[in-house]
Amino acid sequence: MNMWENYLFDFSFHSCRKQGGRQLGSSIFVMLMKPKLEDTYQHKGLRRQLIQLLREKGITDEAVLEAMNNIPRHFFLDSAFDKIAYEDRAFPIGEGQTISQPYTVAYQTQLLKVGKMEKVLEIGTGSMYQSTVLAEMGAKVYTIERQKKLYDQHSSYMFKMKYPNLKFFFGDGFEGLPAFQPYDKILITAAAPFIPPKLVQQLKVGGLMVLPVDEGDNQRMLRLTKLEDGSLQEEAFEEFSFVPMLTGKNR
Ligand code: SAH
Repeated sequence: MNMWENYLFDFSFHSCRKQGGRQLGSSIFVMLMKPKLEDTYQHKGLRRQLIQLLREKGITDEAVLEAMNNIPRHFFLDSAFDKIAYEDRAFPIGEGQTISQPYTVAYQTQLLKVGKMEKVLEIGTGSMYQSTVLAEMGAKVYTIERQKKLYDQHSSYMFKMKYPNLKFFFGDGFEGLPAFQPYDKILITAAAPFIPPKLVQQLKVGGLMVLPVDEGDNQRMLRLTKLEDGSLQEEAFEEFSFVPMLTGKNR
């Protein structure tokens, strides 16, 4: 078993245990859910089409498009989604959470203007796809997840060797990660009810924070620039729909 298969084995074993705990049940489940770790010509072709679609939808940052073209999104999804992994859609990733739609990932990353070696804090690791895009772009990425089961999946992250610049943390994103502050960039990938003050504190002067802020069913994408006097300059963009940013941790 390679690392990824190992992860799905653990995942399916635990999910089956919850449903009755029979060893037989879990091994059948493993066979059914065996992931496709192969990045075939078909996957690559579908990915190129997705990148073209993102261009048509207005994404222009070549570094973002290249990073997304380099990363097999289907590796971050259950094998049941293998054939549709390159549709511009969000998908469930367990614990009631979702992997963001590719357009949303591209849009937020483009707004963040990520540079190589910049320190980026991401709130909401989820599937690890967005953090991988940031790592592929050469940023030093610190990502926080509040759902223990999702956080635990990082232990079998398939690109551990490839991205030593990506670090995973279990915690409440409202608190940020003071140990590594200040950050050049902060990205929130869940619907924030307000601008989290501790994250503003942990942002460098001149740094950018991109976040969807709650407006009922949808959220307005904001980009904040921290000014010399600590105040924020605000730019507002399109509306999106994210899962909520929740306080505290969920074990
Ligand atoms: N960036 C993710 C998107 C996942 S959806 C991806 O590429 O797949 C948003 C994630 O934010 C969920 O996993 C949710 O559990 C997490 N989240 C919500 N509130 C949070 C908080 N306060 N701190 C950390 N993570 C949070």
